[in-house]
Amino acid sequence: MTLFTCGPVQMYHRTATIRDKGYIHFRTKEYGEMVKSTLKRLSHLMGNHTEFGTIYLASSGTGAMEATIENCMLANDKALVINGGGFGHRFCEMLEYHNIPYDSVDLKWNEALTAEHLKPFENKGYTTLFVNIHETTSGQLYDKQLLSEFAKRNNMYFIVDAISSFLADEYDMEKYGIDVTIISSQKGLCCSPGCAILSFSKRMIDKIQSNESKRPSLYFDYRDYLNNIDRGQTPYTPPVLVMYEIQDMLNMIEEEGGLNSRLATIKGKGEYFRKKVKEIGLTIPDYPISNMITPVWFEDISAYDVIQVLKDKYDIYVNPCGGELADKLLRVSHLGDTTIADIDNLIDKLLLSIEEVKKKQLQGVS
Ligand SMILES: *Cc1c(COP(=O)(O)O)cnc(C)c1O
Repeated sequence: MTLFTCGPVQMYHRTATIRDKGYIHFRTKEYGEMVKSTLKRLSHLMGNHTEFGTIYLASSGTGAMEATIENCMLANDKALVINGGGFGHRFCEMLEYHNIPYDSVDLKWNEALTAEHLKPFENKGYTTLFVNIHETTSGQLYDKQLLSEFAKRNNMYFIVDAISSFLADEYDMEKYGIDVTIISSQKGLCCSPGCAILSFSKRMIDKIQSNESKRPSLYFDYRDYLNNIDRGQTPYTPPVLVMYEIQDMLNMIEEEGGLNSRLATIKGKGEYFRKKVKEIGLTIPDYPISNMITPVWFEDISAYDVIQVLKDKYDIYVNPCGGELADKLLRVSHLGDTTIADIDNLIDKLLLSIEEVKKKQLQGVS
């Protein structure tokens, strides 16, 4: 089985076996020290040097998105969301659900975000900008510089879901003035699902701590997490085993030559796949795309049918798209323990699967 999926991804053997080495109970000083050092290393990789500005939750990424809305949007706040696909839409739904005023910059799935889209939203009193910096459903990677300047100019907090971009694309909280970064264990970190990590700027910590007007979710009250993290502790049982996997992954990235080398590897796999996929006559959309993924466009046959053949006949998994794009687009992830040889195999099997779907289509017609 080979996973070319967004997350969980094809896991490295050493990650999958890390739990065999044993682990200690989480209410110990030793575990707390491990957590502190791991979160510190993570926050440096995110470009955040705020002390104890990073916490972790037992949750998938979506839980952290929602908890961030509850903890970081206080009375009188008004949000603007970049909504270019399923994950942007998810932020909108959550704001709606929590009765928080918001507007959205709505993009068609294949429309690249530009300065023009932001113009109507200048000086309109928004306090917070929300973006999924890589909208995983389409593969579009938004322009961090553009959004960062917009947020600064409009005096807004800048909240970024970087779940599918962190450890695939360049990222730097301080450089881009990012106040919250949300990531989760099963994407760029290539670990088991179940752990979300949040990194805050100093001014966002102050804002969260200043909240006296309402209590956010009891389980996800960030004040409790922030008040415990200087000891490496959490108010409730954390995803202990995933934390060990993350620690080991950070070691592995260091052994491989560090962050830039990691980014180069993923970019290299992506470029190789894109070249090969064009050679076999398939199309890639022309908006800016994350290193993490390649969306592949199908004109005459169903992308969804191709995905089924790849899975059932060749044990290769790629991501489908939802809704109106289900038959049009498939997505291939470049994260995880996949090699150039695996990509060559994927291309071969993609060709065979396409032939098979075409043959079935002809039979269906005749
Ligand atoms: C995967 C992903 C999430 C989180 O999804 P979960 O299934 O809740 O972990 C959130 N945002 C983006 C952009 C993602 O790619």
